[in-house]
Amino acid sequence: MALPNKPVGELRAVRDPEVDKRDVDVLIVGGGMAACGTAFEIKKWASDDTKILLCDKAALERSGAVAQGLSAINTYVGENKPEDYVRMVRNDLMGIVREDLIFDLGRHVDDSVHLFEEWGLPVWKKSDDGKTLDGKKGQKQGTLKGGATPVRTGKWQIMINGESYKRIVAEAGKKALGSDNIIERCFIVEILNDQADPNRVAGAVGFSLRENKVYIIKAKVIMVACGGAVNVYQPRSVGEGKGRAWYPVWNAGSTYTMALRAGAELSMMENRFTPARFKDGYGPVGAWFLLFKAQTVNGLGENYAASDAAKAELEKYAPYGTAAVTPTCLRNHLMLNEYKAGRGPIIMKTSAALAKLAETMDKKEMKHLESEAWEDFLDMSIGQAGLWCATNTEPEKKDSEVMPTEPYLLGSHSGCCGIWCSGPNEDWVPAEYKWGYNRMTTVRGLFTSGDGVGCSGHKFSSGSHAEGRIAAKSMIQYLRDEGSKVTGFKETDQELVDFVYQPVRNYLDHCNYTTAEDVNPNYCKPAGMALRLMKMTNEYGGGTATYYMTSGKNLEILMDLFEMFREDLEKIAAGDLHELLRAWEINHRLYTAQAHTRHIQYRQESRYPGFYYRGDFMGQDDKEWFCFTNSSYNKATNEWSLKKVPYIKIISD
Ligand SMILES: Cc1cc2nc3c(=O)[nH]c(=O)nc-3n(C[C@H](O)[C@H](O)[C@H](O)COP(=O)(O)OP(=O)(O)OC[C@H]3O[C@@H](n4cnc5c(N)ncnc54)[C@H](O)[C@@H]3O)c2cc1C
Repeated sequence: MALPNKPVGELRAVRDPEVDKRDVDVLIVGGGMAACGTAFEIKKWASDDTKILLCDKAALERSGAVAQGLSAINTYVGENKPEDYVRMVRNDLMGIVREDLIFDLGRHVDDSVHLFEEWGLPVWKKSDDGKTLDGKKGQKQGTLKGGATPVRTGKWQIMINGESYKRIVAEAGKKALGSDNIIERCFIVEILNDQADPNRVAGAVGFSLRENKVYIIKAKVIMVACGGAVNVYQPRSVGEGKGRAWYPVWNAGSTYTMALRAGAELSMMENRFTPARFKDGYGPVGAWFLLFKAQTVNGLGENYAASDAAKAELEKYAPYGTAAVTPTCLRNHLMLNEYKAGRGPIIMKTSAALAKLAETMDKKEMKHLESEAWEDFLDMSIGQAGLWCATNTEPEKKDSEVMPTEPYLLGSHSGCCGIWCSGPNEDWVPAEYKWGYNRMTTVRGLFTSGDGVGCSGHKFSSGSHAEGRIAAKSMIQYLRDEGSKVTGFKETDQELVDFVYQPVRNYLDHCNYTTAEDVNPNYCKPAGMALRLMKMTNEYGGGTATYYMTSGKNLEILMDLFEMFREDLEKIAAGDLHELLRAWEINHRLYTAQAHTRHIQYRQESRYPGFYYRGDFMGQDDKEWFCFTNSSYNKATNEWSLKKVPYIKIISD
């Protein structure tokens, strides 16, 4: 007997949704670390009658990359100098970064960390005799702002008990804005340009994930901070393991796509991040390397990273490869060389590390250390703890595998793709890097922060929050100077509803044609389209399938596949609101994937070995490519253009 045609998700989508119209001065899109920073800061600078609205596709308490919590704040400058912070980021990202943006971040980031502590985040401290005090015990030492010493796991990271990190930060943002000015479960689809000036923003359109409702929002200034992009490339875990990824599965490239389609220039989109993490559980390795001093070895038990061959390999990438701290991509590169030579897998010697620490600790201290090792996962990557339990892994007895993941696109962790933004309007900033308002994109009134800002990685959670605050101030400045120039967008309510609900109409028009609703000659379902996109990037765009290797010919094929995919997306069908979300996420992923691979196609060198390789242009070519690459897209004509933009050094070596 045939099964009835019915949507499988939560709430059935209807043909004609309700329309909810808003008219505000400031719109904040996203509710992650950066957006919470903006929400917290902006009221301080805005006049009392300024109308502000924040829309997050999820719920602020647990949205974005910090949803599960974190066990370290990775950027706290403290006793270091912002100039050294710039040098560290520049080296890790192989020389080409926006030093104005990074310096600006470095001089402000600690203030956000001090606020987190004030709001209740437990920060680990050093006792007077140099011992580690976590959580509550650390409070006895006073606050960071008051001069207490944090527990560092590296030069820039500090340890926290951060399971509730996002809740704490979200609460402050929510309180500052007021819950009437926040719409949760609202996915923003498109930024709308001004009818009189196509290079200025005037609003946005999105939809509710809980009701059949389209939001049409007029706004004079907009922050787009929707994080980076995951599931653009096929994850290593498929089938029964699907859904596992290092990067949070809900960030779908909305930041880059919405900015790109609004006319903003993207920069360094060729950069990607393929972190080496505990295999399959994606648990963090930082604390294991830095706090517990664990080593990784290859399948033969050799400390391959310390070998003469590794040193010789790193010398090829001097000065970055020979610096005191090896760049993240080159650490991956060494690992990949082991796999390719048949000397895998890569094993983290957790047992040896804990045994070594036990030599100087009593039983109680050792028990505490073991619980910290577990808490490192429970605070930020619970699945890894689950996997260790499921595989009988006691880290003091059994070692674990480490492996580079599938590629992700982001601009705030150890990656630097994103939007080309104005730096601070200060004398020391070169004219080419500033056009009025700090963190404004090349479209007037459109700002970004966190993963959105290109060419300035290593901001992490604290830096993204601080950057959201930096941008808030200049958004209000823009509102005062140019707010009156905004005349509104040209699209009618009906056009916008038709645009957003097209996938629902595709479904309702044709769902009775077949008995199995997922098989239909008139439409494609989001689940199938998601797999199709990931298959083509994986095979042709340098995914795990090819050890991150691609080439001009592969990319040419990929561009054709993208074009067919884009045409087919017009036929994507959504039977319920969940599927409507999936449909738009895939749309956003497509443009992000296109930008990424077009940049790789344009940059004829392999700038980030270990993250990706151009087989036809192996190695770096500083003569031709020591520059930024920027792209833009014309949505009316579906045309892309790419160009080189000079790099300017501001901070000496
Ligand atoms: C796995 C992982 C581990 C990390 N570990 C650490 C660490 O140990 N220490 C550290 O300091 N930093 C860490 N980071 C970095 C830190 O989490 C990020 O730098 C930071 O969260 C970036 O802030 P953001 O606001 O740009 O993005 P996010 O915090 O990810 O926020 C994105 C927001 O946008 C919303 N959104 C997405 N699309 C839409 C849309 N279309 N419409 C409306 N809303 C939308 C999301 O719901 C979310 O609220 C880690 C990141 C990852 C991914």
